[in-house]
Amino acid sequence: MIWDFSYDSPNAITNLLQERGFSMSKKFGQNFLISSSARKRIADAVISKQGVRVWEVGPGIGALTVQLLNRSANVTAFEIDHGFCRILRNEAFIGEPNFNLIEGDVLKTWEKVFHQQGTPDVICGNLPYNVGSVCIAKFLEKQCLPQLMVYTLQKEVADRLSASEGSKLWSSFTILANIDYKVRTVCSISSQSFYPPPNVDSSVVMMEKRVQPLVGPDERRTFLTMVDDVFAQRRKTLRNNLLSGKTVNLLGKENLLERLELSGIPNNERAEQLGFPDLLLLHRYVFQEH
Ligand code: SAM
Repeated sequence: MIWDFSYDSPNAITNLLQERGFSMSKKFGQNFLISSSARKRIADAVISKQGVRVWEVGPGIGALTVQLLNRSANVTAFEIDHGFCRILRNEAFIGEPNFNLIEGDVLKTWEKVFHQQGTPDVICGNLPYNVGSVCIAKFLEKQCLPQLMVYTLQKEVADRLSASEGSKLWSSFTILANIDYKVRTVCSISSQSFYPPPNVDSSVVMMEKRVQPLVGPDERRTFLTMVDDVFAQRRKTLRNNLLSGKTVNLLGKENLLERLELSGIPNNERAEQLGFPDLLLLHRYVFQEH
C-alpha cells in the first residue's frame, strides 16, 4: 500500500518533519518538488514501459518515488539523510516489494549496487545542486549507461549538459555526456515549485542513450584526456592548452606540435569552437597512425 501524503503542501511537509524531530538541511540541497504537475511530467518521462528498473537519486520523502511506484517501476533509491530514510522505510514504502533503499552518500554507495545489480533501465533524480554534476560524471566515466537518464538540475548545470559547440557552456562535461547520450532540456521548473524555494532556476534534462557512442571504446580514454587538456583554460589557445596538459607527456612536445600541424586545425583555435568532428579529427592525428 503506497503512502497517501500531501506532497504539494509545505505545511504537511513541515509538520511531518517537526513531528518526527527532523529538519531540512541546506547542506544536502533539500528543496522538495511541491508541484504535482511537474512531478507527473517527470515521472511520465522516466517511465515509458511497465516494470522498469529505476535508480532514483535523492528521493527526499518520496514525492517522485510514489509516482514511479504507481507506474509499476522497480525503484532503488539512494538517500543520504538518515531521517528521510526512516520515513521512506518505516512509513512511506513499508512492505513495498518494488522499493529498495540504499542509505548514505550516493557517490559512495552507487558503485557497489552497480556491481551487484548491473545497469538499471533508467536513472533519475531531483539532484542536489552540489552533487548533480559530479554524480552524472561518475556514471558516465564508469560507463554505467542506462537507456535513459532524467534529471532535475540547477539550470546552469542543465544548460552545460545540453550546450552546443560555439557556446561558452560547451565544455569537457558536455562532451563527456554527449559521447554516449543525446541530451535535451524537457522543461524548466520555477523556484516556486519547490519548498523551500531555492535561489536558482531548475531545468529537467533528458539523456537518451545513443545506438553507437560518438567515440569508440578503444579511443575513449585518450580522447577524454585530450579533451580535458583542450578545455583546461578557456582563455588559452588549443596549442597552449595541449602543451600544458597530459597529452604532451604522452607524446613529447615536438611530436605533438607536428601532429597538431598535420591535423589542419588552427593551433590558435579556442576550445569552444571545436565540435565533435574537429575533436575526433584532432584525436586521430594526435593519437593514431594516419
Ligand atoms: N526528490 C525529492 C523531491 O523532489 O521533492 C527531494 C529532492 S532534494 C532537491 C535532494 C535530495 O537529495 C534530498 O533528499 C537530499 O537529502 C538528497 N541528497 C543530497 N545529497 C545526497 C547524496 N550525496 N547522496 C544521496 N542523496 C543526497
